[in-house]
Amino acid sequence: MHHNNEYSLAARRADVPALKAGEVYLDNAATTFPVQQVIDAITSWYRDRHASVYRGLYQRAEHATEQYEKVRTQVAAWIGARSDQEIVFTRGATEGCNLVALSWLAHQFQPGDEIVVTGLEHHANLLPWLELARQKGGKVVTIPLREDLSLCLDDLDALITNRTRLVAISGSSHLVGMYDDEAALRAVVHAAHAHGAAVLIDAAQMVAHQRIDVHELGADFIVFSGHKMFGPTGIGVLYCAARMHNQMMPVYVGGGMVADATADVPVWLPMPRRLEAGTPSIAEVIGLGAAIAYLSGMDMRMVQRHAVQQHSVQRHEAHLTRMMLEGLQQFPEITILGNLDRLKKYGHMVTCTVKGMHPHDVAAELAERGICVRAGNHCAQALHERLGIPGSVRMSFAWYTTEADVHACIDAFRDMLRA
Ligand code: PMP
Repeated sequence: MHHNNEYSLAARRADVPALKAGEVYLDNAATTFPVQQVIDAITSWYRDRHASVYRGLYQRAEHATEQYEKVRTQVAAWIGARSDQEIVFTRGATEGCNLVALSWLAHQFQPGDEIVVTGLEHHANLLPWLELARQKGGKVVTIPLREDLSLCLDDLDALITNRTRLVAISGSSHLVGMYDDEAALRAVVHAAHAHGAAVLIDAAQMVAHQRIDVHELGADFIVFSGHKMFGPTGIGVLYCAARMHNQMMPVYVGGGMVADATADVPVWLPMPRRLEAGTPSIAEVIGLGAAIAYLSGMDMRMVQRHAVQQHSVQRHEAHLTRMMLEGLQQFPEITILGNLDRLKKYGHMVTCTVKGMHPHDVAAELAERGICVRAGNHCAQALHERLGIPGSVRMSFAWYTTEADVHACIDAFRDMLRA
């Protein structure tokens, strides 16, 4: 079973030209390599079909608008949104969070209001809320973590209250991957809605590993980035549920988002155009469409994690995670972050510290041996401070990662620790 799985995914590696012999790329949580289909779509867009959208009356421009909007439809279908209008194109997850802060929350927020996050958030899903709370006289409340970095929901009733305006939480952590079971995420979403708060899910670390489903997640806002799902940089998605649309105000103003600019008070276009001022990243949108078409051909539907059957991408990545964990556990100098049992079942990355070595030195040593890993605080300074470590070393996988990559990384650790 595993063998077949590994085989069919390995056969697709030919679709990823950035994978090079002699280089083991284990930094997929930072960014994934684009598939050739994405590169081709962008190249042929610029070569043959480039034009602006919404403006022209000639055929090339009409075609551009059609193709741009077709990707919006494709994104909506891919995540199970009810309507295309719920899909806003952004520059990435970071811009998505900032847009929600400035377009929505800034207009709703009253002094004393609260925003709830978890202790595991990326700065992208933390700083917009800290800034807003600071400027408006509110507070950011943090759901604490247990020893194994899973969410501690014991005091959920005290954390999410009638003062909570927004709960912003990652669906999968950029430090330990699938850090918790879906029941925890559902409990948080449920508590938020029960108190009239909105929910934002940072899905940046989900999209390469599983098909996300708007209804299963039950969020009002979902953000993710194209470059973390084998697509281009400079493009991402903000899913904004239709029920929020009448509360969304423009952030950037200019061309493409206004219906009537001659009145004293301009009349804005409806969502999603209201949030897409200026000439958009057309080629990147086309590239994102190609990435989604590619992922649609892979077995990565959302699954209940406790069900017996896992889809093949998740099964492959969990298998690699187990191999990596078992390999690294041989070395007494290494401490692994997170819940080992869960990582072995659902993981797609391994994060660790090495006794007596700064994480940057570990990464540099591994780089000398051809292994690309991430080291540092991974845009989660507060967490590392709480753990009392200067940083950590992260090896993160994608469907194209092989057993040989994992073996090479473990060998490099062994070599480094012996030296
Ligand atoms: N959230 C998480 C969990 C992430 O891992 C990242 C990327 N490191 C982001 C948000 C931000 O994504 P981007 O830099 O593409 O905007």
